[in-house]
Amino acid sequence: MIDAHTHCFPPEISDNITQWATTYNESHWLKLVAPNNKPSLQGYASKEGMIEAMDCAKVSQSILLGWYWENKATCIRHNELMKQWMDFAPMRFHAFASIYPNDEPIQQLELAHSMGFKGVGELHPTIQHYDQYKDRWHTMAEWCETNNWPMNFHVSEGLNVKYPNFIPTPFDIYLEFAEAFPDLKIILSHWGGGIPFFELNPKLKVLLKNFYYDTSASPLLYDMTIFRNVIHLVGAEKIIFGSDYPLKLYPKKQKQVEMQTFIKDIQSKAGLNQNEYEQIFEKNICSLLNL
Ligand SMILES: [Zn+2]
Repeated sequence: MIDAHTHCFPPEISDNITQWATTYNESHWLKLVAPNNKPSLQGYASKEGMIEAMDCAKVSQSILLGWYWENKATCIRHNELMKQWMDFAPMRFHAFASIYPNDEPIQQLELAHSMGFKGVGELHPTIQHYDQYKDRWHTMAEWCETNNWPMNFHVSEGLNVKYPNFIPTPFDIYLEFAEAFPDLKIILSHWGGGIPFFELNPKLKVLLKNFYYDTSASPLLYDMTIFRNVIHLVGAEKIIFGSDYPLKLYPKKQKQVEMQTFIKDIQSKAGLNQNEYEQIFEKNICSLLNL
């Protein structure tokens, strides 16, 4: 089993979140992980702790995703940390790079490529100012299309009960990428925020042919019928398992950060047949990344 959506938020961050976020000037992230008057859903894990969680859940490999930082320096530091984790356990960790597209994206991409990264993301077009720097985002997308690197986008739902610090990610931005870069592989996080529904439109289905949808944070957002419903809409070949570890997906019952509860829920409640199970947990991501 492969978990294609995890994050590496190591102890140097969790020891003093406010200080870290202030040093790197990451105000959105701070508001998200340290909300006022409320326990945070964000968990933290060391590389050893994460490998232990993977072993418990029978996950053989994890894809560490970067984050949609508001500064290039944070992206570079985060990539250095992820590289340390990949070097520590090369058979267990792969990674997508944190990229700040608005400032010399090619340089950042080439550096990440030389460090062994396999894609870009999560990206957040609103927080990372897509509208102001479209040309540089397109330079990045062109590089990814040429080098066969998937781009993973954070997607919020088109219709949503607003939570504190909710920042929408308009659907038309993803369509712009699909139209401009027909061979670019795009993974939309969090079930694509409802975009699978639009694949019922035959014109959109053609345009969205290289869209994939990951299941990250699903227990916080939807009930387990989402698996069967999205399979009906787009097919199991476009769905990729991801948890969003070390996010706390079951905040009421989860005592510690772990991976297995969501996986057990899928096994017992999603009603997947053997072929769908293999596609979602392994085959789709393997063929995207040539693993
Ligand atoms: Zn996300």
